[in-house]
Amino acid sequence: MKKIYIDHAATTKLDAVAFESMKPWMMCEYGNASGIYSFSRRPKKALQEAREIIAACINAFPDEIYFTSGGTESDNWAIKGTAMLSGKKHAIVTSEIEHHAVLHSSKYMESIGYPVTYISPTEEGVITPEILEEQVPGSASIVSVMLANNEIGTVQPVKELAAVAHAHGAVFHTDAVQAVGHIGVDVHKLNVDMLSASAHKFNGPKGIGFLYLRRGVDLPPYLDGGAQENGLRAGTENVAGIVGMSIALKNNVESLEINKQHIGTLENQFMKQLNENNIPYIRNGRNEMLPGLISLSFEGKDGESILHRMDLMGISLSTGSACNSKSTQISHVLKAIRLPETFAKGTIRISLGKDNTIEDVNAIVGALKKIISS
Ligand code: PLP
Repeated sequence: MKKIYIDHAATTKLDAVAFESMKPWMMCEYGNASGIYSFSRRPKKALQEAREIIAACINAFPDEIYFTSGGTESDNWAIKGTAMLSGKKHAIVTSEIEHHAVLHSSKYMESIGYPVTYISPTEEGVITPEILEEQVPGSASIVSVMLANNEIGTVQPVKELAAVAHAHGAVFHTDAVQAVGHIGVDVHKLNVDMLSASAHKFNGPKGIGFLYLRRGVDLPPYLDGGAQENGLRAGTENVAGIVGMSIALKNNVESLEINKQHIGTLENQFMKQLNENNIPYIRNGRNEMLPGLISLSFEGKDGESILHRMDLMGISLSTGSACNSKSTQISHVLKAIRLPETFAKGTIRISLGKDNTIEDVNAIVGALKKIISS
């Protein structure tokens, strides 16, 4: 049985070139990049080159890139760090459809006395600048709204949202974990102050990511210790991971348009076949969407049973968010878009990737047809 992987929003396969680029830094050039002897020179240089490559991919300056352990750490750092900066309990503003890395960071800050506003999206899963303008409190220190949603794929109008935040004197952070390497991301055009990214979502290694921090924007260290990362993020650098991340991102950005086109063709074919086979569904989210991320709800069905039956047929997909796969509760995102419970319970997430083929699409529709009609 051929295995079909359609859960690329959960994680992606490591790019072969990125993998090769990582090896020397583990086996031969294993010197600590902070060392001051000659054996550390090359790892140090490799870090600088990786910083330059990553910065160029998002139109940032190299000194604006801070390496972290991934999206979760970047989100925690941006939100908790900014909120704590002034010593006063200024408000945090975020949305109801954020990843738990943002939501739980905000909930923690709320538990220690910081006011938090959770903005509701439209029923299509979009946070509009008008909704933000209405709800942002005067004392906000940070507004955090994701660039692309991991469950339903909606791309948010981040540039306009950042303008609202700035007009209220707040800094703007975006969780771009699902977007970087998949859609064009330019931090200057977006006008964001901070942006989180994670390598394993764009064919890089797991456990490594970065936070973009615009020059001149204040952020206290999140991890205390050594002087790495300009004194802001202590800990011996994961040179192999960082180099692998930079190569994976460069490769993805260079083939972004080709990948988007290929995935777009698969997505159109998939939707066409669903309709031709009279499989009743609703698709969640609208407006601008991430390529290949398809959230489908089947009325009266159970998403988890669909997942298990697809799994038996060799197809790996997700119900709501993979990070939440042990939970049988309805996802907070589907609740936030006010999807009726009978649909929400029967929701699956398909996230196509560049390695998927038209044969995969045919097999997925065939499997869904069997499961939904039974
Ligand atoms: N933010 C979003 C939108 C995500 O989809 C994820 C992972 O699923 C994360 C943050 C967490 O990233 P990481 O797995 O690198 O900690």
